[in-house]
Amino acid sequence: MCHACFAAAYNPAELPQAVQFICCRHCSAREVPGGWELHDSSVDAAEAALRGAPSWANGLVGNQLEFELRKLDPHRFRASGSASGTLDGVALEQQFERDILLEFRACTSCSRQAGGYYEATLQLRTPRQVVLKAAVARVHAALEEGAPEFFATEDGPVRGGHDFQLSSTDRARALSRALLLALGGEVKESSSLVGRREGRDLLRHTFGVRLPPVLAKDAVIHDGVVWRVAAIERQRARLHCASETRPDWKPKLSELEVARRLEEEREGQVVSRRSRELQLLDPFTLRTVEARAPAKWNGSVTAVRDGGDTFFLWK
Ligand SMILES: [Zn+2]
Ligand SMILES: [Zn+2]
Repeated sequence: MCHACFAAAYNPAELPQAVQFICCRHCSAREVPGGWELHDSSVDAAEAALRGAPSWANGLVGNQLEFELRKLDPHRFRASGSASGTLDGVALEQQFERDILLEFRACTSCSRQAGGYYEATLQLRTPRQVVLKAAVARVHAALEEGAPEFFATEDGPVRGGHDFQLSSTDRARALSRALLLALGGEVKESSSLVGRREGRDLLRHTFGVRLPPVLAKDAVIHDGVVWRVAAIERQRARLHCASETRPDWKPKLSELEVARRLEEEREGQVVSRRSRELQLLDPFTLRTVEARAPAKWNGSVTAVRDGGDTFFLWK
């Protein structure tokens, strides 16, 4: 057979007369063997369904499916395009037009979500709003990045913190550990029996996360000097003395609950410098004050204010 006859005799692919699939009416996920595949829209889902439809000829290389989709109604798209590839060195191409039929249902996670399904409660607790905000933002990011079957059915502020009802115990546990690694604090896990299914106890877990009262880089006042939070390691924080030269302080996180946090930090200005003797502009009072720089100092300084006193923080 010559190339022209070969190309005329063989199709690169077989396509079914119509492509059918089940699409979630809420989130556009597409049902696939063993679960649901996530899509941004029903058009994306229809495109994926069509891409999975051809059975390509054995030995075909460089398979390509090119097409355009037209929405005829919410349940039906029309695809027109071409399938092509190379078989035994001969380029094959075939034009096609097929309808893609959508059947809408609710996917597993959407129907669970609608039913208020949850396995675990994540409780974030801290007396400090900024710390709570940072933790809540991390949980939201994890929910957005995570698999579609990881979701929150409840998500809202409660007295002293914020609660989430989450669809997966394992992921709630992993999330509470990730929060501890990033922010410090402690987690208490408890569970209660909520029923039995198929002869097994059904437990609902609660992860109570006690967040620390400070975040890394915070400045707090303690013992008449200002400390900078360098790191939070589980139950303890390590703080560098910022306003004087003192060894690091490693208190328990609970000790920091009473330490005043200094919110506002302003740039200090060096007016004049002779060796370690300095004249600095106090950015709060706009007065020039004398100060002595620490032996190790990189030349930049900030200031915080507590009561009637300005503290200079050396870098
Ligand atoms: Zn021929
Ligand atoms: Zn869905």
